[in-house]
Order: sequence, then C-alpha cells, then structure tokens
Amino acid sequence: MIVQPSSLRDRTTSSRMVAADDVEASLRRMLGDDAVRSDEAERDYYAHDIAGRGTIPPSIIATPRNIADACEIVRLTVQAGRAIVPRGGGMSYTGGYQAAEDGAVLLDMRALDRIDEIAEKDGYVIIEAGCTWAALYDALAERGLRTPFFGPLSGVAATVGGALSQNAAFFGSGQHGVSADSVLGLEIILANGSLLRTGSWAAKDHAPFQRAYGPDLTGLFLGDCGAFGVKARVALKIQPIPRTEFASFAFPDGAALVGAQVAMAGLPGLAECFGFDPVANENLMRGGFSFREKAEALSDIAQATGGIRGLLAAAGVGARRMAFLDKIEHSLHVVADGPDGAAARETIEKARAIVKAHGGGEIPDSIPRATRAKPFRPIKALLGPDGELWLPVHGIVPLSQAHAALDSVHALLAKTSADRERLGVRVSMLTALVGHAFLIEPQFFWRDALGPFHQRHVTPAQRERYGSQAANTEARAFVHALRGRMAAALDGSGGAHFQIGRYYDYRTGLAPAADEALLGVKAVFDPTFRMNPGALGLAGHKTSSDLQRRP
Ligand SMILES: Cc1cc2nc3c(=O)[nH]c(=O)nc-3n(C[C@H](O)[C@H](O)[C@H](O)COP(=O)(O)OP(=O)(O)OC[C@H]3O[C@@H](n4cnc5c(N)ncnc54)[C@H](O)[C@@H]3O)c2cc1C
Repeated sequence: MIVQPSSLRDRTTSSRMVAADDVEASLRRMLGDDAVRSDEAERDYYAHDIAGRGTIPPSIIATPRNIADACEIVRLTVQAGRAIVPRGGGMSYTGGYQAAEDGAVLLDMRALDRIDEIAEKDGYVIIEAGCTWAALYDALAERGLRTPFFGPLSGVAATVGGALSQNAAFFGSGQHGVSADSVLGLEIILANGSLLRTGSWAAKDHAPFQRAYGPDLTGLFLGDCGAFGVKARVALKIQPIPRTEFASFAFPDGAALVGAQVAMAGLPGLAECFGFDPVANENLMRGGFSFREKAEALSDIAQATGGIRGLLAAAGVGARRMAFLDKIEHSLHVVADGPDGAAARETIEKARAIVKAHGGGEIPDSIPRATRAKPFRPIKALLGPDGELWLPVHGIVPLSQAHAALDSVHALLAKTSADRERLGVRVSMLTALVGHAFLIEPQFFWRDALGPFHQRHVTPAQRERYGSQAANTEARAFVHALRGRMAAALDGSGGAHFQIGRYYDYRTGLAPAADEALLGVKAVFDPTFRMNPGALGLAGHKTSSDLQRRP
C-alpha cells in the first residue's frame, strides 16, 4: 500500500519543484538550522566510513525528526535531481553511505528511533528504522521478549534500518539466519516521497503480523543498501526470551575447528557458533576486556543468569580470569537457545559429541557467556590491541565449500607473509554459522593515522593513546589490495556477501536475466536513479535508455 503521510499535505514545499540550488535553503526552512549541516568538517566526517574516505563528500547532512520530514527531504531532493544517501549508525565498512556524486543529501536516520508498538499476542514489534539494536533489545527484554535475530555485534550504535539494508548477521543467526529472516514487513520511503508498506501491512488497515501475503515485496528492500528506498519503519517478529546454555572448545588446528562447525549446522537451537584463529584469540585476550570491564562482565553474568546459578557461573568465569585464550590455538564458542534449560542443554551435549569426534576439547565458556550477558557494549573493536586500525572482509559460502574457501584465504596469506611481516600487517580469522551457511571473515590490523570517523568513534582512552599516530600509506595500500584479493578469492569459492554497499562486485557475477530484473526493480521504485547511486553497483542513471546498458 502506498500512503501519503498526512502532514505532507500541509507543507509549504510539498507541491512545488525545488531547484538544485534551493535544496539547502528549503531543508533549512523545513527542519531548522540545527538539523541541516553543510560545513566542511561535517561533510568530511560523513564522507568516511570505517574503511576510509569516499571520493565525494555529501553536500548536505539532513536529520529528520519524524517520518513525514524524512519523506519530504527525499521528495524535494529527488525532484531537484540530487542524490539521497541514507545512513544509520555509520558502522559499516563497504562504502554503503558514501556519496558517489556531487550535491548528495545524506539522510541521517538516527533520530527516527521510536518503538511504536509491541504486539505481544500477535508476535510483532514496530520500530522506526533509526532505532539501535541495543535500544530495541532493552525495551523488549523488559517484557521478557526478543526478536529471533537480535543484532550485529555493533548493535550499540548500528540501527535496525542499517542492518536490514545489509543483511547483517550475528546474534541468533545460527538458528534464525540473517536479519532479513526476522522481518515481517517494511514501511519504505520511495523516491517520490510516498510511503510503501509490505507484507500483510500492505493491505488497508492490516497489521504487519504476516510477511507472506502475495509476492514478497518485503524481500526486495532487504539487503538493498538503500538503493531501492529508505526504510522508515520496520516490523520484526518477537518471541519469548529463550533459556540459554553455553560451551567453548579448543582445537589443535583450523581444519578441525571448521569440520566441527560445519557438522554443527542445523543443530536445533544453535543460536551462535563462532570460531577464532590464534591471532583472534590473542587479540581478544589483550584488548577485549579491561580489568574494570571484566568486573562488569561478571556482574552482568550474575544478573543475567540470576540467583545462585548466576553467582556460581560468574565466580567460575572470575576464577579463570578470562585469560586463557592466548594459550589456545583455535577456539569455538557455542550458544544454545531452547524453550527450556533441558532443550538448550541437549543442544550443547550434541555439540560436545561433535567436538570430541573432531579432536577438540572443552575450555571455560567465559566468552559466549559474557557476550550474551550483555550483548551490546561500547565498541572498542575499531582498533586492535596496539592501536592498529581494523578492517574486515568476508564471504559466505555453502557448507560444502567451507574448507576450500578457507584454504584459498590461507593461500593468499602464505603468499603475502613476507610483505605482511615487513609492513606490520596482521590478519585474524573469524568463522561462524549463519543458518545453514558458513561465514569466513578475515580481519586486518595495521598501524595508521586515525581519520575523522575513528577520531569520533574510538573510546576516549584509545583516542588519547593512539589519536595522533602517524599515517602509514604503504601498509594501508597493501591492506586494501589484499582485502580485494581476498574478496575475489572468496567469490571464487562460490561465496556471496552480506554488506555489498559500493565494495563487493555484485553485478558482474549476476546472470544477465537477474541483472535485468535488478535494473527493472530499481526503475520502478526509483525511476531517476536518485536513491543512493552507486550502491549495489547501480550508478546514477537518469533516463530509461540508460537502463539498457550497465554503468
Ligand atoms: C565493531 C563492529 C562490529 C560489527 N559486527 C557486525 C556483526 O556482528 N554482523 C554484521 O553483519 N555486521 C557487523 N558490523 C558491520 C555493521 O555494523 C553492520 O552491518 C550494521 O548493520 C550497520 O548498521 P548501521 O546502522 O551502522 O548502518 P550504516 O553503516 O549507517 O549503513 C549501512 C547501509 O545501509 C544503508 N542504510 C542505513 N540506514 C538505512 C535506512 N533506514 N534505509 C535504507 N538504507 C539504509 C546505508 O546507505 C548503507 O548502505 C560490525 C561493525 C563494527 C564496527
């Protein structure tokens, strides 16, 4: 259903065309000066993501305070022929919100953070897209509820809209897949400023209790990187908070770890299943938890687990002082959710048997226990333990390709070991189950200057210690080149990607019919190609004849 927000009809700008030069003045009139920024420092900050600076900064940063304002910003920007670039928490690293042309208006969605409705009986929650996963988690937990997928590790800052636009995965993903799989319906701002609802929500006066209602319009906007429209509101499934059990394991080599992970896929209730290589284990122990944070983690565990059981679990973690991973080669961390403790314990028992068959042994479960006790903590991971910049790349492969894909990454690492050593570039490896697929995420670390994004988002202690370290352009260029080769190697192993943004080569690999369909869908929702041009490899076409050829 396409609805006109009622307040739009009264707006002074709503019925007239705005010339490109007038966009800023119109936005200032509509939103007020404090919600419209165009000074050089802000434009430079918004030109950066975690991976670095995009080539063209946005001209204007607009911060809507309600959905009607957001619709009107989109409408008048697109009518003036300028690009709209949506941004949530800004926690991504694939250029997804980096403008690709001059004059772009960046739509900062973070003030649209309301939780509109928690319909417990009907099993859905409606939130505005700028709400963070942490805020949603806390609000639902107060009522004993949770969404099935319940956030990426960056959920203290990452928004629901940003995660759905990138198919984010982590908490709950072993069992419930990517963020998209927990969605019931969307309310999308289209390029003409109207609102489109999907699923059962699309029917007049229907609630968003059901995604399957005719063709899946919802799915078109999931993982679209904002190229088809701006998510204004989202309806997600909710469920009672399950009972949870934990286990961690050590393996003598990476192949044994991966073998066990692959064998665990499909275990009922396997909510998270993530593995670390030795570099990741060492990083976590050196930079993961400060003394104060360890104490906080213990108290979180005690509170989350409750009563005597909680105190015992926390005491167990404390006694082991969470400082054992640096002695371990490869580690695997498993979280099982069940309707009751017995079901969750049964999953863990099955995981134990698989580990034994793959030559692994059990270690204290401090990591998954502390992670789940408080899933969303302030983000420290933007820097490595010695102040290095951090930059991931990933591929998601079928289970049958897990070993081969990892081998292709290791072959690249072996080939580049001398250069990595010389330039001080370290690479750690995260592997995880996402539903019935296997995620491989190499993460790069190198010493370099902190740009405007990092200066704003690292912790105060990190800024004080590492804020003025020198630029290291040679290592940076090397990391970006090797990152690209790894993405290609993962593609070559049949890999797909979640956070396509402007980084992964999505369209080249598409079959012609699929690419044509993609362009057709784009043209329906955004006929002048003004919504986040460049994302998904869809450049800023303007006429229908342009649609005949690829950018
Ligand atoms: C420390 C750390 C840990 C991370 N852990 C994970 C993890 O566990 N799993 C994972 O998948 N990722 C992870 N990430 C990557 C990233 O945080 C996630 O992908 C996250 O979902 C991005 O959300 P965001 O709100 O920050 O989106 P942004 O970075 O602001 O935007 C991402 C994309 O979505 C688009 N977009 C944003 N909002 C909207 C909207 N309302 N409508 C339409 N398009 C929109 C943008 O244009 C852009 O293309 C991590 C990042 C960091 C820094």
